[in-house]
Amino acid sequence: MVKGLASDEWNELIIQIMKCKKCDLYRNRKNPVPGEGSRNADLMFIGEAPGAREDETGRPFVGAAGKLLTELIESIGLTRKDVYITNIVKCRPPGNRDPREEEINACLPYLLKQIKLIKPRVIVALGRHAGKTLFELTGLKWINMSRMHGRVFNASIEGVSFKLTVTYHPAAALYNPRLKGSLEKDFRETIKSLLDALRRSREKIRQRTLFEYF
Ligand code: URA
Ligand code: SF4
Repeated sequence: MVKGLASDEWNELIIQIMKCKKCDLYRNRKNPVPGEGSRNADLMFIGEAPGAREDETGRPFVGAAGKLLTELIESIGLTRKDVYITNIVKCRPPGNRDPREEEINACLPYLLKQIKLIKPRVIVALGRHAGKTLFELTGLKWINMSRMHGRVFNASIEGVSFKLTVTYHPAAALYNPRLKGSLEKDFRETIKSLLDALRRSREKIRQRTLFEYF
């Protein structure tokens, strides 16, 4: 029942994004890139904006940066199908320029709706733009990437509470081995331990339920 309602809301959301003209980015896009993965994901990755490959295929993180992101997800024992991957803006900025503030603001309601529907337990912001946007949205103070990455914050959006963490953008890491090292470490340490904590708390609840049952 509830699932049916949620899937109606999802369909409506995807249709809205596919035909959206709320900011000028619609003019040059080939395809909007709403996002993909599990709609029940515990873990949600939020990048900046689609690039050339994403614009051509309508899928997030499928170029070189996407290959690195996929490897990182697999390095913590998950696949792309287990998580949800999207971006702050759903259409490609021309020449891969940074999205402008008015474009981010026009597109944000779609991201908020995705968070509301998925109810992730952990959100990983990829890169400075996603980090800063999510920090400001949740009332956290953004300083800079080298200070904020790898740390964990309690946050909530649209009544959904989650752990928020930010790490370097995989595209930046492709050009800078030092950043790649930090990105890998954030996955191996911060993100992995958030997942482990989630598993442990689920296991505890399961055992308690079994105990009460017998
Ligand atoms: N970079 C992003 O931020 N998002 C993508 O989907 C691809 C590259
Ligand atoms: Fe609409 Fe977002 Fe695309 Fe702008 S970037 S046209 S707001 S879907």
